Amino acid sequence: MNAIGVARVALAGPVDALFDYLPAATGDPLPGSRVLVPFGHSRRVGILVEHAAECACDPAALKRIERVLDPRPLFAPADLALLRWAARYYHHPLGDALFTALPVRLRGSGRLLGAEVGGVRLTAAGAALAPAELARAPRQQALLERLAKAPQGVALQVLEQELAGVASALRALRAKGLAESCRVAPARAAVSPPAPAVVPTLNPEQAAALAAVNAARGGFQPFLLDGITGSGKTEVYIRAIAEVVAAGGQALVMVPEIGLTPQLRERLRTRLPGPLAVLHSALAAGERERAWHQAASGEAPVVLGTRSAVFVPLPRLALIVVDEEHDPSLKQQEGFRYSARDLAVRRAQLVGCPVVLGTATPALETLHNVAVGRYHRLALPRRAGGARPPTINLLDIRNQPLRAGLSPVLRERMHAALAAGGQVLLLLNRRGYAPVLTCHSCGWVGACVDCDARMTLHLTEQRLWCHHCGRVEPVPRDCPQCGGPDLRMLGRGTERLEEGLAELFPEVRIARIDRDSTRRKGELTRLLAAVHRGEVQILLGTQMLAKGHDFPGVTLAGVIDLDHALYASDFRAPERTAQLIVQVAGRAGRAERAGEVVLQTRHPEHPLLQSLLREGYAGFARAALAEREAAQLPPFTYLALLRAEAPEQAVAHAFLAAARDLAEPLCDPGVELLGPVPAPLARRAGRHRAQLLVQSAARPALQQLLAQWTPALRGLRRRQGVRWSLDVDPQEM
Ligand code: ADP
Ligand code: ZN
Ligand code: ZN
Repeated sequence: MNAIGVARVALAGPVDALFDYLPAATGDPLPGSRVLVPFGHSRRVGILVEHAAECACDPAALKRIERVLDPRPLFAPADLALLRWAARYYHHPLGDALFTALPVRLRGSGRLLGAEVGGVRLTAAGAALAPAELARAPRQQALLERLAKAPQGVALQVLEQELAGVASALRALRAKGLAESCRVAPARAAVSPPAPAVVPTLNPEQAAALAAVNAARGGFQPFLLDGITGSGKTEVYIRAIAEVVAAGGQALVMVPEIGLTPQLRERLRTRLPGPLAVLHSALAAGERERAWHQAASGEAPVVLGTRSAVFVPLPRLALIVVDEEHDPSLKQQEGFRYSARDLAVRRAQLVGCPVVLGTATPALETLHNVAVGRYHRLALPRRAGGARPPTINLLDIRNQPLRAGLSPVLRERMHAALAAGGQVLLLLNRRGYAPVLTCHSCGWVGACVDCDARMTLHLTEQRLWCHHCGRVEPVPRDCPQCGGPDLRMLGRGTERLEEGLAELFPEVRIARIDRDSTRRKGELTRLLAAVHRGEVQILLGTQMLAKGHDFPGVTLAGVIDLDHALYASDFRAPERTAQLIVQVAGRAGRAERAGEVVLQTRHPEHPLLQSLLREGYAGFARAALAEREAAQLPPFTYLALLRAEAPEQAVAHAFLAAARDLAEPLCDPGVELLGPVPAPLARRAGRHRAQLLVQSAARPALQQLLAQWTPALRGLRRRQGVRWSLDVDPQEM
């Protein structure tokens, strides 16, 4: 070691190393700042991670930081600590983790924007136009009038809050050359305080939960807020956040998927002082960056976001909420494979604040954390406002005459619910028209040429579609194999269910909600609004329906086909199925009317269904945890999954076999290597996939192995076309 002060810099990319530089001539920035450094024959942007008093390299070979890009660090010490911890725990290159946590423009050498934000103003043509000339387009007219009052421009964010449907009106004005983009002073003063909303009086359980969270402020404490759907969890979040904000703190609210929960967003917006910074991947880069700044500058007291929001800098962070904490989409499934829920807990620990994990169906991991005393459970066992919980019925459909997949009993229950003025929700977790197209003469089946999977028939789009790789083919008129004309559609997706329902209930308005029907921006919001206004009587769709929506008018919920989920290969399938059932059940009967849930199955004796019916989710979870313990599965053991894919199966396997050889001498007793085996979908998009599972009785032993193994894997000779990834705490196997 040479005693010489160096700055250690992380560069974007898959290199898991820090590089040493001499301080910049202008003096050294604080850790968390971007710097421009010479690298090989070029220059790269990096992030200064730490200073060190000595370095292992030859001081004469050290180069100097060329330029400091940020006047102040982008990441505060606690933000940086979280990212460093995450990169280490998930064995992901730190530079990549740091840069993906930044807005796109800042991943390069883009300048940190000043206080100005994006806005709109009228062009000369717009200013000259009399608003009355737009009378045929009232929204455009309203927008024109609003902009006419502010010649220097209005922040986009302000417009969004003031005018409904402003996006399309704005597009129209721009297209006509009447309005243009500009930069304006931040919107702070313009944000109106929330209108006095109707604030319910908390019931005793809610009050106790709120008091517990409030009492924990200023220190680290994880809570599980375990409350059935409609029990008032969101109300507790809002109260706790309001107090944190009133005391000058910031709160971070994380949800699995933002598009699915426009209601939560509106509640936060109307009940809490603004601006509300919303962060998710569907935002345009500019909008995202603006929200990031509002959070990082402390201007936004409340931040609502999906997974990646867990890394957003928050200088006054004082409370974290993770809603629907059981949801698997909180785990990033590619690249940097982190669990946003687990990192939220880690972040709360690093900054020293409470974190509330809310759900009606806690993950088994979370319940285990409660059992061992790491998390504190707060229970909301009743529905807020006195609504009654639904009754759940198992419907044995063996030998039943089905029409459109519906048994006579379910059809009869639907007629009764509709006649009583209720809405009906039907869940079918398969989109498209039919999952199989087959030839009745020769048995040909429409399979994807690139995957070990069948093509799903989509009738509206008139195409066969692989849901795994996205491959699209025209629907053949005759059998591609024998030329016969008798092609048949087997099975049922949501499209076909919708068609069948229209025949069975000709007088009734039906809405379908799945990824296909909501592809267009704003469509989901439109459909949900129609449901809320009571314009729709039957609502059908995929699991999107089971996520976070509030359907007070639904009195009957039906699950068309449970059996697929019951017999999936993943050891988490029972947990996911139980969660789905309980989540769907939670959508029924939320207002004064009691709800009813009907589950169609050919396996009514299934132990999972029985335990769920008899003892509810808590009873199911107890039984499932006992099973996991007996089988030595998580949360009683710890897993990491090494996945590999290659143009040929043998190559993927050879890579994993070599990886296994590397790992074996590094394994402590108690660490086991299982595989390599083919992945559940062994061929996808033309590539063969295999996996090697590492299972350990203790987390430190697993971490220790991975810390030595991953660098060795990176050094492994690259075989033709192999791509690999490591997934710590995998959620899908
Ligand atoms: P959850 O988040 O658990 O699904 P919410 O907080 O959304 O529950 O509450 C469900 C419904 O009950 C909402 O319409 C909410 O406004 C209402 N609500 C919540 N708490 C109360 C309360 N203490 N008294 C009356 N209504 C309440
Ligand atoms: Zn044929
Ligand atoms: Zn495919």
